[in-house]
Amino acid sequence: MTAKAPVTTIDWENLGFDYMDLPYRYRAYWKDGEWYKQGLEEDANLVINEGSPALHYGQQAFEGLKAYRTKDNHVQLFRPDRNAKRLQDSCDRLLMPHVPVEMFIDACKEVVQANEEFVPPYGTGGTLYLRPMMIGVGENIGVHAAKEYIFSIFAMPVGNYFKGGMVPTKFLVSEYDRAAHRGTGASKVGGNYAASLLPGSKAHAAGFSDCIYLDPVNHEKIEEVGSANFFGITKDGKFVTPKSPSILPSVTKYSLLYLAEHNFGMEVEQGDIYINDLDRFAEAGACGTAAVISPIAGFQVGDTYHEFYSETEVGPVTKKLYEELTGIQFGDRPAPEGWIVRVD
Ligand SMILES: *Cc1c(COP(=O)(O)O)cnc(C)c1O
Repeated sequence: MTAKAPVTTIDWENLGFDYMDLPYRYRAYWKDGEWYKQGLEEDANLVINEGSPALHYGQQAFEGLKAYRTKDNHVQLFRPDRNAKRLQDSCDRLLMPHVPVEMFIDACKEVVQANEEFVPPYGTGGTLYLRPMMIGVGENIGVHAAKEYIFSIFAMPVGNYFKGGMVPTKFLVSEYDRAAHRGTGASKVGGNYAASLLPGSKAHAAGFSDCIYLDPVNHEKIEEVGSANFFGITKDGKFVTPKSPSILPSVTKYSLLYLAEHNFGMEVEQGDIYINDLDRFAEAGACGTAAVISPIAGFQVGDTYHEFYSETEVGPVTKKLYEELTGIQFGDRPAPEGWIVRVD
């Protein structure tokens, strides 16, 4: 069996990263210790009580993953079990119930199948982006966990992040902190993002792609990028990425770590990366589901600017990792066992 063909009403070559109201989304409701699966729904709007803890106290978490159309017209997901487990971790931190891994993956498949004509054509670099989320709802005003929850997944087609090929961009080392070591930095929760809006907008206004956040204790070590993880390739070819309790564990980052080590025989390391020791790197990048890899041209650190590989060109290791990972995601290169889940 092959997948339904893409609709012809969308300009697939010029898609950005914008919300689109597709025909179907998945909904499940949690109450009294049980999930009530409502399945696919057509209404994009949610009606929730005005006292819902998600609205007042930020009791919510989300995920982001993609469905890919392959050359031979199948549709597949990339490591959805990792997103399912990470959502459980986020839910633990915010005292929300688990969505079982199987229920999460089945729901992803249902949403993709129902909206299959919106999975962009192979070759455009576009994908169907899935946004699972969990929110605490119901009548409430006191500061405690909700008694009811909604788990939902909606989808939208998104374009290739780099239309004319990858381009390095500049990042600003922020004066703000993103998260505290014993806070919620490792959870994919809206509160971290609310706190990053001001630093992010200041960085954009100053001409940077995003912020780089330093460790909240001494502001000496790189933690992460606004919505992506940082990695660097040292001058002797090692793949290095920061280790900290307040970094969001990126599925893309762990996948690159694996590929660097197993497919390319590189040395890999998760450890301390000092902001005053950037000369050790030949290349640097930010990684996450949305862009896969954003090559970093340079960092603005206070009054000084540190350039990595080049202002205009992408380093060879960054390029090689990007091609390997996207090759696996679109089904052109062999995947490590369990990474690909076929939808259709
Ligand atoms: C989602 C996210 C990432 C990237 O994670 P992926 O699983 O690779 O998409 C990185 N940092 C933050 C803060 C995030 O929310």
